[in-house]
Amino acid sequence: PPFYIVEETDVEEILRLKYRYLDLRREGMHNNIVMRARMNKYIRDFMTDRRFIEIETPILTAPTPEGARDYLVPSRVHAGRFYALPQSPQQMKQILMVAGFERYYQIARCFRDEDLRGNRQPEFTQLDIEISFAEEEDVLELMESLYTDMFKALRPDLRLVTPFPRLTYEEGMRRFGSDKPDLRFGMELVDFNEALRDTEFTVFRTVIASGGAVRGLCVPQGAAFSRKQVDDLTTFVQGIGAKGLVSMAFLGEGNVDSLTAEDIRSPVAKFFSVEQSQEMARLAGAGRGDMLLIVADGNEMAYNVLDALRRELGKRLDLIDENVRHFAFVTNFPLFEWNPEDERWYSVTHPFTQALPSEAGLLDTDVGAVHSRSYDLICNGWEIGGGSIRIHDRAMQEKIFDILGLTAEEAKRKFGHMLEAFEYGAPPHGGTAMGMERTAALLVGADDIRDV
Ligand code: ASP
Repeated sequence: PPFYIVEETDVEEILRLKYRYLDLRREGMHNNIVMRARMNKYIRDFMTDRRFIEIETPILTAPTPEGARDYLVPSRVHAGRFYALPQSPQQMKQILMVAGFERYYQIARCFRDEDLRGNRQPEFTQLDIEISFAEEEDVLELMESLYTDMFKALRPDLRLVTPFPRLTYEEGMRRFGSDKPDLRFGMELVDFNEALRDTEFTVFRTVIASGGAVRGLCVPQGAAFSRKQVDDLTTFVQGIGAKGLVSMAFLGEGNVDSLTAEDIRSPVAKFFSVEQSQEMARLAGAGRGDMLLIVADGNEMAYNVLDALRRELGKRLDLIDENVRHFAFVTNFPLFEWNPEDERWYSVTHPFTQALPSEAGLLDTDVGAVHSRSYDLICNGWEIGGGSIRIHDRAMQEKIFDILGLTAEEAKRKFGHMLEAFEYGAPPHGGTAMGMERTAALLVGADDIRDV
């Protein structure tokens, strides 16, 4: 055979995929596929116990927007016209709510024409759920119970953190620079803007004055890093797009209140007074022996860089416990994001998501400030799934389409079936969908969804 059928051999993926039947003979891969079947069975039993009905929805259908491109299938009988393969059963499941199926689920195949990644492929499966008369709490409780019970049943050896912590989107960004932070370790981000607004260090002062951010994180025991290690990290962040990385290590003994100029090791030390350095250490919760790593950049870039740096340090410092599955919910994403290229608003999730009632008034005045009744389930740095409480009111749905730049005719042509359905007694409803490949990968401990 082209490779040995044993666990340990490190075979090139191309070869594994070409001879998939041999790859699948390997015990680990075989067990992964068996685990995926056990997962499906567990889900079906769980959902049935909770009085959900499994309903299959069409594959040859009209487009449903989830932010990717559609796969199209030409129609033979209607020459020149196309079906779109579903990016998700979103519209179908909402119409099922109007049809009176109050608790729907499906293990649904979805298709999105996007670039491949370790945890993304064009064809995937999701556990799709929709519930009538549901509020956020109902959906989150369901997701948390399912994932807790299933992981306990199928992988009793793994550790979960319960109850699942909840962060708002804003909090996730502020604390971790990410809407899907890996919570298995700390190293939260620190904002130095306030403390350094009047600093003598021009680079920082200019960035702050121009609306950017000076942020960093504290590396425990980082003062022991060699020059080379810090240089490596600088190269790493430059690869992400950062202009540079400023380090500041605190040496000596005692607490940081007694720091002297000799105890502070930083290429930019001379620009900061000892008091300022102490203040930075305090803000970051740093002690002697620790090191701050600081980035000054545009707000978004600073988040991106520190998120990547934090994850990289998590690995390099061996802070990650592979036996932990640290689930959490991230809630209340912005409803819209502005795309400067075509100068229009886009839905952050999809256009059927409700605005927070307390902010709905802003839809007329400050669209970018509105958050949504949305939630993601995340685990160990991956987004596992997400959903929202939906719009079930025709006028509100039309207003959202309008903000998205659809004319009344376009909205009617593309989504008229939904708008019309809302006229016939649509119950309030909400739901969610979870990626099954990612879930299976977490169950077996695979880094790549192609292994399940
Ligand atoms: N349809 C959404 C998705 O596929 C999930 C949901 O809102 O229920 O991402």
